[in-house]
Amino acid sequence: MLLIDGKKVAAELRARAKNDVDAIAREYGRPPHLAVVLVGDDPASQIYVRYKEKACEEVGIVSRMWRLDAGTSQCQLEKLITELSGSEDIDGILLQLPLPRGLDANRCLALVDPKKDVDGFHPENVGRLSIGMPSLKPCTPYGVMKLLEYYGLSPAGKRAVVVGRSNIVGKPMAMLLAAQNPFGNATVTICHSRTQDLAEICRQADLIVPAIGKPRLITRDMVKPGAVIVDVGMNRLPDGTLCGDVDFEGVKDVVSAITPVPGGVGPMTIATLMSNTVEAYRWRLEKPACP
Ligand code: NDP
Repeated sequence: MLLIDGKKVAAELRARAKNDVDAIAREYGRPPHLAVVLVGDDPASQIYVRYKEKACEEVGIVSRMWRLDAGTSQCQLEKLITELSGSEDIDGILLQLPLPRGLDANRCLALVDPKKDVDGFHPENVGRLSIGMPSLKPCTPYGVMKLLEYYGLSPAGKRAVVVGRSNIVGKPMAMLLAAQNPFGNATVTICHSRTQDLAEICRQADLIVPAIGKPRLITRDMVKPGAVIVDVGMNRLPDGTLCGDVDFEGVKDVVSAITPVPGGVGPMTIATLMSNTVEAYRWRLEKPACP
């Protein structure tokens, strides 16, 4: 069984991003600037934002935080996003989700300049991804693709099952796996809470990507011998420990490769945010082919 080492691959990705940052800082006169907008005091979001800031420091991206209190109005938030989108001094915008109740995330995301949309959530980038045009891609599913690529686990021609259909993970994950490019071409099934006989569908899969948010929902009886599992789930148990959506101990002897939680997809998400920020900066500054 191959234990897919997200920590190691993510460290290499960050090292590459650091080299890129050094090179573009020389070329364009300054490093990329990432605006991070955090609304409210969700404890998990606070932790994610801290990890992201730390990664920025490591690779040389300048991150600037906007901390807004939970009582921020839709209008105030939209005004800030619009300002950041128009600012020459900002190259990437990250709006940390989820937003406090009462705020409409989709309306805010649609105001992000698509060229600064380092999370790949703007409708233009979602559309571009779906029709195979160059785009900024959501960090978690894109990070999963990079992990598969690193280990030579090509999804081409394979049966892939994505469990979860959220806009930030499940749907773009399915899109990337099915994409008509050399490192796509999987036959993809998307499952969700209304799927009937999830176990039987999973048993047919060569690759399972659970993005559910239910601890150890995917058990040994649901996994075909030799399957590859990339576990996106991140669940905090009552004793404070983290676990994925897969019963790791139960399946580890039947799979051919699997990610641990923690240490699998999580570090890749953050490393991909770094490379997306570099890409966004380049894209914005590149001269169009036909001025
Ligand atoms: P959402 O809650 O938005 O989506 C969960 C999906 O799982 C939904 O589509 C839901 O179906 C489906 N689902 C729920 N219960 C079942 C079930 N019993 N059987 C089948 N499908 C089910 O979550 P996210 O997509 O935001 O995140 C998913 C997980 O990934 C979470 O654990 C999250 O913490 C983790 N995550 C990890 C990241 C990382 O970097 N490692 C980054 C982002 C997320 P329905 O649509 O019908 O409700």
